[in-house]
Amino acid sequence: TKLVTDIICPFCGTLCDDIEVEVSDDGKKILKVMNACAIGAEKFLHAQSPDRIVRPRMKQEDGSWKEITYDEAAKYTAKILCDAKKPLMYGWSSTSCEAQATGHMVAELVGGIVDNTATVCHGPSLIAVHDVGIPSCTLGEVKNRADRVIFWGCNPAHAHPRHMSRYSIFSRGFFTTRGSKSRKVIVVDPRPTDTASVADYHVQVEQGRDYELLDAMRVALQEGPLPETVAGVPKEKIYELARLLKSGRFVTIFFGMGVTHSLGKNHNIDIAIALTSDLNKYTKAAIIPMRGHYNVTGSGQVLGWQFGFPFCVDLSRGFARYNPGESSANDLLMRGEVDASFVIGSDPGSHFPFKSVKKIHDLPSVCIDPHMTPTVAVSKCHVPVALVGIEIGGSCYRMDNVPIESRKVVDPPAGMLTDAEFLELVLAEVKRIKGVA
Ligand code: SF4
Repeated sequence: TKLVTDIICPFCGTLCDDIEVEVSDDGKKILKVMNACAIGAEKFLHAQSPDRIVRPRMKQEDGSWKEITYDEAAKYTAKILCDAKKPLMYGWSSTSCEAQATGHMVAELVGGIVDNTATVCHGPSLIAVHDVGIPSCTLGEVKNRADRVIFWGCNPAHAHPRHMSRYSIFSRGFFTTRGSKSRKVIVVDPRPTDTASVADYHVQVEQGRDYELLDAMRVALQEGPLPETVAGVPKEKIYELARLLKSGRFVTIFFGMGVTHSLGKNHNIDIAIALTSDLNKYTKAAIIPMRGHYNVTGSGQVLGWQFGFPFCVDLSRGFARYNPGESSANDLLMRGEVDASFVIGSDPGSHFPFKSVKKIHDLPSVCIDPHMTPTVAVSKCHVPVALVGIEIGGSCYRMDNVPIESRKVVDPPAGMLTDAEFLELVLAEVKRIKGVA
């Protein structure tokens, strides 16, 4: 057997880069995954799954699948995108930046709408960053310096299992040599979560009242007046938390969908960022969104380089427009404003409302995904591809916007293309149809 080291885990936005994998001598089979959490290890092991689909397929009238070639799949994809007036090209968060860049070239030629999974997770955070900027830092700084850590509306114990041990609670860094004993950890969540159970303070904010509590924390920093309770939290507790934060040397606020998708949405993040800025008058403070898919941050970066906006990019008029709510994938599907569906590296079939998923089912549609997912089940064409970060390398961005090059561990099944290779075929076919050199 051979040991492959320094592998990044292509599952969540923590992008752990210390994974080790034991592979067979011929380099074809993964035998053992070390250092990864249970969900990360499962992704590596899925590459070996005996029920893995290895060839593109078209759905037949009777609902059965018929195997086709990658060329035929690329021709079908190019045709439905070129025939459509407003094709939706959604997903992108579980593939490499290289594949994203190629796919966006296709979108520009066909006048598509490019949206990523931020539309249903940290889109409000991106909007808030446009409004007020963001004082942030890297996870390395958190590990080495942070002595006050807040998790607001997120539960890394389940969603980012190694985040706490590698960076935010238990890790030992240059100025945090005693690990969790060097830090005070606060969890703000209406529910008693597993992350809350290892925190020093659990603040049970009332559901949907995060804005009020964040605002009250800003007042408490200045020892200003507060009512007896705010969002279900007694004022003494709020003053205590404010003093605790001010007494720290380095505060980091991590936040998740508990704040981005509860009442207030982007305004919650506006004020969380304002609280972080206020804290910088007393100590050093930074704020980081807990990004979910391993390269959703990269998708925002690549869209930003190419079109100037991080999600919800509408190219249907020949230039980039950006208007979340109007040009976001779920809203477009709900209103029936798109006439073809292209999904890559995500699973709206699991996360979008029934009405949107039904639309994908009714439209000409293609799903590019190594796995059999609910989105695949409702699509007309399924293109299985090599697993990025396991069977092919590629660039990815961690949740703190640090770019990391992923490594290839084993070969993909014989004859299987990568996302980028398949998208090159689609791009060539679109250029042929459009008569573009
Ligand atoms: Fe992979 Fe995330 Fe688990 Fe790290 S925490 S091993 S990146 S799933």
